[in-house]
Amino acid sequence: MAPEDIDGREASADEARGLVSFIEESPSMFHTAAAIRARLDAAGFTYLPEGEAWHMAPGDRCYTVRNGSSVVAWRIGDKVESAHYHFQLAAAHGDSPTFKLKANPELEGPDGCTRLNVEAYGGMIDYTWFDRPLSLAGRVMVRTQRGVESRLVSLDEDVAIIPSLAIHMNREVNKGFAPNRAHDLCPLISAGARGRGAVDALVAAALGVDSDAIVARDLFLVSRVPGRVWGADDEFISAPRLDDLMCAYAALRAFVTSSNEHDISVFACFDNEEVGSETKQGAASTLLSDALARINGALGAGAENLRRALASSMLVSCDNAHARHPNRPEMADGENAPRINGGLVIKEAANQHYCTDAFSRAVLASVLDDARVPYQTFANRSDMAGGSTLGNISNTQVSLHAVDVGCAQLAMHSSFETAGAHDVANAIDALRAFFCADLKIREADAATW
Ligand code: ZN
Repeated sequence: MAPEDIDGREASADEARGLVSFIEESPSMFHTAAAIRARLDAAGFTYLPEGEAWHMAPGDRCYTVRNGSSVVAWRIGDKVESAHYHFQLAAAHGDSPTFKLKANPELEGPDGCTRLNVEAYGGMIDYTWFDRPLSLAGRVMVRTQRGVESRLVSLDEDVAIIPSLAIHMNREVNKGFAPNRAHDLCPLISAGARGRGAVDALVAAALGVDSDAIVARDLFLVSRVPGRVWGADDEFISAPRLDDLMCAYAALRAFVTSSNEHDISVFACFDNEEVGSETKQGAASTLLSDALARINGALGAGAENLRRALASSMLVSCDNAHARHPNRPEMADGENAPRINGGLVIKEAANQHYCTDAFSRAVLASVLDDARVPYQTFANRSDMAGGSTLGNISNTQVSLHAVDVGCAQLAMHSSFETAGAHDVANAIDALRAFFCADLKIREADAATW
C-alpha cells in the first residue's frame, strides 16, 4: 500500500471515530445543537443570540441558535463586499426518530411495575426498540427563585428496556409483527421499587436539583447501544441516529475546515425534520431566512442586495440516502442505487421531494469531479414513494438553487443504523470541495468557479 493510501485510510478511520464520538455527545436534538456549538466555539466562532443586536464584518465567524435545538453558523469571506456577494450553504438535521415522554410520564402497574408513557417522535422501525438498554435525554425546565431555566439532561445509565413478549405467547411473531404503540412499546423502568415521580427523581438526581423544581420536560428515549466501526476490514460504521448525525457531522467538519474568501459560507442544522419541519426552529421556519437577512443587514446591505445574493447562492441539503440492501437488492432502482463507501450520494426525485435538478446536479457534480471526490446517484424505485427531506421544505422559506445529497446507509430509522466507515471522510471531502469552490452563478443558465 502506498504511503498516501495508508495516510488516507488513517484519516478516514479518524473521521469515522470522530462521528462515533459526536453521536455519543448527541443523544437528543438539544445535545446535537450543544455538540455543534462546542465545535464552533473551539473553532473560534462567536455566538450571536437571536434576541441581541448583530454586528459583523468580512472575516468574521458567527453562529446563532433557536430553541436550543437548531443552529445556523456562517463565515464571511475576507473579500466579501456588501454590494455583491452570495451564500454557499450546507444543511442537515439534528433530530432522529425516537419516543418522547408525555407530560405525566409514568404508567403504574401491573404488579407494582412502572413503565414509561411515551409516544412516537417520527417514523421509527418499532421492532428495533425492543430488548435493548435505553436511557433518557433532552431538556428540562427547572424552577429558579424568580422564574424558570432550561437545563440539558442525559441520564448516563441504563434505566429502561422494552421487553418482547415471549414467543410462547405469540407463536406467529416471526410471520409478521405489528406492535401496538400504546400496549407493546412501553419501556419498563421499575419492578416495584419506584412509582409515580420516578422520572423526575432520576432527572433531579442527575441535575442536582429537587424533584419539585422540575416543571416541564422535552425528554426522549435513547438507545444505549454504543456506535462502532466494524467488519472484516473495518468498512462499516453502525450507531444510533446515523440519520442524520452522519451528515450533520460531515457538513460541520467540512464547514470548519474549509475556506472561501469570496462568499459567505453557511452551515445549518435543523431540528424537527423527522416530524415534518413545521416548527419555529424547523427547516420550514423563518430561522434560515431571518439569519441570512440579518447577516445582509449587518453588512450594511439593503433588501435588493439580499435578493441578488440569494439568486446567485446555492444550498446542499444533506440527509442520508438508502444504499442498495444486500439481502434485498431488488428494492432499489436498477441503475440509481448507491453502494456503501461509494462516496456522497446525489438524490433526485421527479416529485421534487428532493430539490436536485439538472442545474444544481451539474454544479455540484462538476465541482466534485474537479476535486476528484467520488459521488454516486440515488433515485427511488419507480413504484415506491420514497422520502423527503429538508431541502425542498427550506426552499419554501428561502428560495435557492439546491441539491439533495446524503451518505448511503442501511436500516434507515432503525434504532441502530449502518453506513460506510469511509463515507464519513468521503462526505467531508465532497462538502469541503463545495465550500471551497468560489461559485459564480448566473440565474439557472450557467455557473463557473
Ligand atoms: Zn434524515
